[in-house]
Amino acid sequence: MAGKRLILMGPPGGGKGTQAKRLQDRYGIVQLSTGDMLRAAVKAGTALGQEANAVMDAGKLVSDDLIIAMINERVDLEDCKNGFILDGFPRTVRQAEALDKMLKEKGIKLDSAIEVAVPDARLIERIIGRFTCAKCGEGYHDKFKQPKKAGVCDMCGGTEFTRRADDNAETVGARLKAYHDQTAPLMPYYQGRGLLKVIDGDRDMDVVTADLESILGT
Ligand code: ADP
Ligand code: ADP
Ligand code: ZN
Repeated sequence: MAGKRLILMGPPGGGKGTQAKRLQDRYGIVQLSTGDMLRAAVKAGTALGQEANAVMDAGKLVSDDLIIAMINERVDLEDCKNGFILDGFPRTVRQAEALDKMLKEKGIKLDSAIEVAVPDARLIERIIGRFTCAKCGEGYHDKFKQPKKAGVCDMCGGTEFTRRADDNAETVGARLKAYHDQTAPLMPYYQGRGLLKVIDGDRDMDVVTADLESILGT
């Protein structure tokens, strides 16, 4: 059986969150999204949230040390025992090195690092159309994934939806630049460790999910 401790990498709006949620439900492993954790901290007004807020709005990366500390605590929680999907972390080589060190100390082995590859030209449309159920967090898209009944969440029946403050045309450019400059070097990093798998994320969501399931196995 293939292992279930994985990293999901890919550009902003590439479909990491969408796929991570599906894998979470399918395999009983937990999605660890640093972006979601940071947005929760911003909403709660914690010290971390206050520090991260402006950086996120500018489309830049939050400091490695803050992120590493956040993940370090999170993977110790009970729900990670069956496995986890790191969604949006690591995002720099320094974070990847810190992750290696931290997992080694905890005696945990990483099974794969999967890149969901999507060309830049697609991402703006994906990001601008994104919205989320305020109650359960299910993700939607104005064009590619509308609720079956307009204004009502398929999953929980909720009727309130939110859009991210950083999902606007101005910030997208900075986020893509951060991705190419700081995160893309992770692909050779994991390739060199024999962990990298690349899948084409520029296809229908269900087809992408099927590819991921074939990597993960039963
Ligand atoms: P996306 O949908 O663009 O992949 P995320 O929700 O993963 O976005 O991240 C949103 C923002 O949160 C990023 O632009 C960045 O400011 C911050 N962030 C999330 N994860 C990290 C990380 N691992 N390192 C640094 N900053 C991060
Ligand atoms: P990420 O977590 O990588 O930032 P999301 O999973 O939030 O990306 O996806 C960004 C937006 O694109 C969402 O509105 C989602 O519904 C939509 N989306 C995700 N995967 C696909 C796909 N394969 N085809 C079309 N739209 C997609
Ligand atoms: Zn919902």
